[in-house]
Amino acid sequence: MISKSLAVQSPHLRVAFFAMLGVAAMAGALNGAMALGSWVAETTTAAPPAAPPAPKVEVAEPPPPPAYQFDAPLPGRVINSPFGLRQMPWEENGRLHEGVDIAAPGGAAVKVAADGVVKAVGVSGSYGRFVEVMHKGGLTTTYAHLKASAAGVKRGAYLKRGTTVAYVGNSGRSTGSHLHFELRKGDKALNPTLFLGRSFADADDLPLKAAGKVSRKVHVATVSRWPDSVVKAQMAKGGAAKGLAGADGVKITRTKSGRVRAQIPVVVG
Ligand SMILES: [Zn+2]
Repeated sequence: MISKSLAVQSPHLRVAFFAMLGVAAMAGALNGAMALGSWVAETTTAAPPAAPPAPKVEVAEPPPPPAYQFDAPLPGRVINSPFGLRQMPWEENGRLHEGVDIAAPGGAAVKVAADGVVKAVGVSGSYGRFVEVMHKGGLTTTYAHLKASAAGVKRGAYLKRGTTVAYVGNSGRSTGSHLHFELRKGDKALNPTLFLGRSFADADDLPLKAAGKVSRKVHVATVSRWPDSVVKAQMAKGGAAKGLAGADGVKITRTKSGRVRAQIPVVVG
């Protein structure tokens, strides 16, 4: 009787024993009872056994990233010369300032405003050292008067928004250390302030029309120094300039130390 009963029971005992071994091994592999519990829950609630064991994502998906997102190229620094008609103190008429000027000390890191591909890295008489970056939807951004472009920034390089693209300088036709920043759609200059710090779901949301408008108001620029070429030309005229920037009678004199002094009458109103 005893031997018969053992013979009957032993396979069950063996199964139970191996089942326990299996559970113990599994528990060890999954590193704890919690992991085992979740594994059990997943396997028991899984789709029909025939289906491939694809992981089921129950977490709500975040919304897709905005199609267009623009950040300030010099975060925390202010625009000290806006987009629009601007007159330099030595000029007779206003000209379109096709971007914004952001004052910053030389060497400050300039961040690329949006994801894009470097279109050009170069030097020009007016821009000085500049970098142009191409973005989605035919938009481009230009960073000018640079001290230098950043390492690895060459034509064709892909830059994620916020990557350092260059360093602030005073190259080209510039009257002090600052960044001249432009945003264009094709050839048309747009007012960057309507883009910076904003995101847009798709191309239709871009404020292209509003940003392309130029106010009739002429902004007279405040400059820290006059270009030498202008000073020389004015000195050749006898040291007095007329018809300048609504400031007739600007007097330019050169002091003994060689410094240039410009006296500009203040117009109130
Ligand atoms: Zn500028």
